[in-house]
Amino acid sequence: MAALSSLTTLKGVGPKRAAILEQAGIATPENLFDYFPRRYIDRRTIRSIGELRAGEAVTVVGTVLQARLEGTQPGRMRFKAVLADGTGSIELTWFKGVRYFASSVVPGDALAVNGKVGVFGRQMQMQHPDFEHLGRTSVHENQEGGSDYELFHTGRIIPLYTTSAAMKQGGLHSRQLRTIIAGAFERFPPGREENLTPGIIREYGLLPLAEAYREMHFPSSPEKLEEARTRMKWTELFYTQLLFALKHAHLERNRTAPSFTHSGEVTRRFYAGLPFELTDAQKQVIREIYRDLKRSRPMNRLLQGDVGSGKTMVAMFSMALAADNGLQSAFMAPTEILAVQHFLSLKRSLHPLGIDVALLAGRQRKKERDVTLAGLADGSVTVAVGTHAMIEKGVSFSRLGLVIIDEQHRFGVLQRKALQDKAASPHVLLMTATPIPRTLTMAGFGDLDVSIIDAMPAGRVPIRTQLVPENSKNRVYELLRREVASGRQAYIVYPLVEESEKIDLRAAVESYAELAATTLGDLRLGLIHGQMTPEEKESAMDRFRAGEIDVLVGTTVIEVGVDVPNATVMVIEHAERFGLAQLHQLRGRVGRGRHASSCFLVHAPFSGDAGERLRAMESTPDGFRISEIDAAIRGAGNVLGREQAGMVSGLKLADPLLDAPLMQSARKAAFALAAEDAELRGREHAMIRSCYLRYYHDRSTLADIG
Ligand code: ADP
Ligand code: MG
Repeated sequence: MAALSSLTTLKGVGPKRAAILEQAGIATPENLFDYFPRRYIDRRTIRSIGELRAGEAVTVVGTVLQARLEGTQPGRMRFKAVLADGTGSIELTWFKGVRYFASSVVPGDALAVNGKVGVFGRQMQMQHPDFEHLGRTSVHENQEGGSDYELFHTGRIIPLYTTSAAMKQGGLHSRQLRTIIAGAFERFPPGREENLTPGIIREYGLLPLAEAYREMHFPSSPEKLEEARTRMKWTELFYTQLLFALKHAHLERNRTAPSFTHSGEVTRRFYAGLPFELTDAQKQVIREIYRDLKRSRPMNRLLQGDVGSGKTMVAMFSMALAADNGLQSAFMAPTEILAVQHFLSLKRSLHPLGIDVALLAGRQRKKERDVTLAGLADGSVTVAVGTHAMIEKGVSFSRLGLVIIDEQHRFGVLQRKALQDKAASPHVLLMTATPIPRTLTMAGFGDLDVSIIDAMPAGRVPIRTQLVPENSKNRVYELLRREVASGRQAYIVYPLVEESEKIDLRAAVESYAELAATTLGDLRLGLIHGQMTPEEKESAMDRFRAGEIDVLVGTTVIEVGVDVPNATVMVIEHAERFGLAQLHQLRGRVGRGRHASSCFLVHAPFSGDAGERLRAMESTPDGFRISEIDAAIRGAGNVLGREQAGMVSGLKLADPLLDAPLMQSARKAAFALAAEDAELRGREHAMIRSCYLRYYHDRSTLADIG
């Protein structure tokens, strides 16, 4: 209530407006100051209508003189408005969303309009311009409803605020907000309490907070505005990075992990038994990991490597090292299919070396499971591979030293932590096949050390990716047939999303039946989907792996990790329905051996972002590039996992991709501070400590999880 009353003490804010503002999350003057303008119009970029030339892209400011709808037939209507600024007039035309624009642009409106100038006859024109309401110029309006129009002639940079529908209804337009904020500045000047130390402000050349607030809302120049934005972004990034920095410092100081003192017989024989030479990238990463394991502090490392780059091999090496040091390893994968695959290959390579490997997955019979659990508890089983079944209560280890999580983005923080909690402080290796740009990694995984496998094993042939419209699918089947004839195998994948799971599943199963009965009737087809029992799934995978099935038809259960190098054709049906990361993962199921592979993106007519996604797939094989494009389409936060996205969406102004240099400098400062004072106990850090606690007040889960 106190907060509400403090807003109502502002000029222009009565109880009604205060309620509307509160609904929009603005309950205190501080909230108001943090309600930064969405964008600004710099007077210097505004042109007089009288001096416009055809072909220019410009911003003009004027008053709507006339507005009219033309035509009556839907689809052929247009909406025209005439905008004038005293030096001339220009016609604005809309062909789409005509009714909406007709209701939002009316004579008397002052608009800032941005678009490309055209000439029609002798009339200047703009089609579908962007525009911004600046208020109304009508003399009948009440005082508060006045326009910004005059401001443009006073040489100011005009801040424009986002206003919700409710705000607009309550008469709170950009202009009114500005007036209210100006009043609030008078009464409660913001930024008097700094949130960065004088030392940091000096060292990183930042604007003082009070000045930054003022420039954000009332910029004195474009340069100052930029400095203010930098200051605000830097602070956001600093506090998000400080979380990571403090966690990191804490780990460094307080926890000891079993250190791996030697690489012995198991590792040596494992290496000698490899059917291929490790890539330099794999060797490098293994060295980085080994260096971590030798220390007595727990490793906390993220291994990124594109699909098919050979991450499993790195995991196996680490587990061999653990075995040499008398320690157990736990290797967790997100799907049963993948866990079984890892289990089989680990058993194949480690069992002959006297290492007992066990599988822990949901499907196991009690007796089998009990034997495994006993082996893990008494230490006779050295390597456990499994799904999230491994994090259940009954599972305990006698001397767990290494935790590896494959496709870590498929697990939640709590699941990862549950596995780590099976030992006091094990070494942890997270693996991901969705490599993301470095600054995004920092934003989402800032407390982890990062290793990158940046090269593919030798002899890989680039995958050919092709968009195929639904109705020319037949040529895909022809190629698929030829590949099968020469001994290769293929996948056909159908989309399955949670919301329409049943329908999707039925569609996939029906398509399978139809293919089996007609087009691909002479090939050996197999079906795999999430509703099958574990035994059925495993049997399908076994037969595919053994070459007894030519074409595996399924849903996205085979999206991650599946490794059958003889498969060379990936057909993705309704590719327009898949996300970019998913498409890239699915494509990565082929191109894993020496044979040339193809990926066909079969698509129905699409809309929205689908075209961008499909073309991105066509344009590059590179997972890093794909995730950059994905971030550009969906926003950085969405590319990270759920809880990492929380970190990023805590950023209001900063963008971890666009503001990479700021991120670097804020990160440097945060880590320097944490190294110096991990508890933030120093008197000069009290202010940072209280800001930090406030910042993470609502994000306590993030702050607590180590
Ligand atoms: P991912 O990184 O996607 O998990 P995998 O570890 O499954 O990839 O490896 C993909 C394939 O490449 C596997 O068949 C694996 O045996 C093979 N592989 C891994 N390392 C090498 C290498 N150095 N040379 C040749 N093939 C390799
Ligand atoms: Mg893998």
